[in-house]
Amino acid sequence: MILYALACIDGHRFESWFRNGAAYDEQTARGLIACPICHSAEVAKTIMAPAVVSRGALIPVTPSVETPAAETPLLDERQIAARSFLKAVRDRVLSEGEDVGAKFSDQARQMHDGDIPHRHIHGQATVEEARALIEDGVAILPLPMLPEELN
Ligand SMILES: [Zn+2]
Repeated sequence: MILYALACIDGHRFESWFRNGAAYDEQTARGLIACPICHSAEVAKTIMAPAVVSRGALIPVTPSVETPAAETPLLDERQIAARSFLKAVRDRVLSEGEDVGAKFSDQARQMHDGDIPHRHIHGQATVEEARALIEDGVAILPLPMLPEELN
């Protein structure tokens, strides 16, 4: 399941769960997604907020977790499956969006403020930048960092 942050043409913001990115594309193409406030079917993704559901609960995704290699527990099969699913979600986000790198914070804020059109981006933000964006109500979610990327 993927949570998308959406906005209608009038700028109402809402969120909706989709089975996957293709389900979102199909449902918007058929006009099935409507703004809950004004019922406009003219909706678009704002900043993609990937999240993964496991047994009805959200798995928190954090920018980086320092796990010393020596203390990394062996993964059981379920963890390995969850990991590869996370990786698939993440690869999809990274392959579809525009990488704006360190400009992420500026770009996300400008989209939120309506200074530039909404589009799908990803990039890097410092913890301080991410916190400031969230406090200002900008819809962002960190992507999971996979352990092999920490080396
Ligand atoms: Zn609306």
